[in-house]
Amino acid sequence: MTAKIPTLDLTRNYGRIKDEILEALNSVLESQHFILGPDVAAFEKECESYLGNVSAIGCASGTDALLLALMALDIGEGDEVITTPYSFFATASCITRLGAVPVFADVDPGTFNIDPVKALEAITPRTKAFLPVHIFGQMTPLETVYEEFSARGVAVVEDAAQAFGAWRKEGNHIRRAGAWGKIGCYSFFPTKNLGGYGDGGMIVAQDEEIAARLRKLRVHGAGTTYYHDEVGLNSRLDSLQAAILRVKLRHIEEWNEERRTVAGRYFALFAEKGLLDTVVPPQELEGNYHIYHQYVVKVPRRDELQACLEEEGIVSRVYYPVSLHLQKCFSFLGYSEGDFPVSEQLSRETLALPVFPELTMEEQVRIVSAIGRFYDK
Ligand SMILES: *Cc1c(COP(=O)(O)O)cnc(C)c1O
Repeated sequence: MTAKIPTLDLTRNYGRIKDEILEALNSVLESQHFILGPDVAAFEKECESYLGNVSAIGCASGTDALLLALMALDIGEGDEVITTPYSFFATASCITRLGAVPVFADVDPGTFNIDPVKALEAITPRTKAFLPVHIFGQMTPLETVYEEFSARGVAVVEDAAQAFGAWRKEGNHIRRAGAWGKIGCYSFFPTKNLGGYGDGGMIVAQDEEIAARLRKLRVHGAGTTYYHDEVGLNSRLDSLQAAILRVKLRHIEEWNEERRTVAGRYFALFAEKGLLDTVVPPQELEGNYHIYHQYVVKVPRRDELQACLEEEGIVSRVYYPVSLHLQKCFSFLGYSEGDFPVSEQLSRETLALPVFPELTMEEQVRIVSAIGRFYDK
């Protein structure tokens, strides 16, 4: 029996940085400073210089980052937020949690990101924010619509949970995912490209007033301890996570580059096997630096292929089997099947193949050979 190939093997990554991690953890343990504290402040500073031109505020998760971002914009009852139906649940739940209404716009069939023009068409007088997701690690092109949204008083909030380190060329400089909109949100869930060893998240803002409000909102709305200006959350990044993330931030460029190498090898192997008329590889938009948080292909007979790979010890995943507008808990929004045909079709046709910096060429050859056998190539 050949070894199983997982979608992600974090143990291999840990092996590369074990000594650095243990040293970082030890220093937090010696300090006994566990919530916020010096490592969180240092991590925030390092993220600010990496992302450029933003203030960074650590928090407890990517979900909380989204919730805090919308709270800082005073989004509530009856307000509308335009977003994508093809994303992780938290993208929409942060909106309904505040009593606001998610208004979906369909996605681009090539990049799986929200179609910015369709998003613009969804504006109403009640629209308060536009929440694009940089899905699977590739940025949504915002340059064509950013001005128009801003001019109409709609704040752009980026869900960059899957895209730490991704960027997009704008003129002759680059924009990092999350550092473009009024507010950007990240997740450090262990499986993300920059992942901690537990939950964690971060919000970045360009406006210092919004950043100050976010710093309060994460500690129960207290500007000074025990003096509460408003009701916030208990959502802090802990020092152990920050210490781990500081180590990993030093390597993120290298690891994202290695993921791109893995993606390039998949493409070459599909071509070699004559699979490119059957398997549609991810499309990287001109000007984008895709960091392949997931490597997602479109394939015929998706579920059968997945079962066949499973039998050969290759684990793949479906992101996402149900579009957000069709989730049971959102039935009160009144959407029905057929409302967002591209998103619905993707939920039937996409498959995420193993991708992580340490995935080997030999493993990829095994994966692509198995796919080839399934399609008789
Ligand atoms: C992971 C993720 C989140 C939520 O992050 P958590 O840290 O798990 O709360 C939000 N949006 C997207 C697109 C994600 O992938």
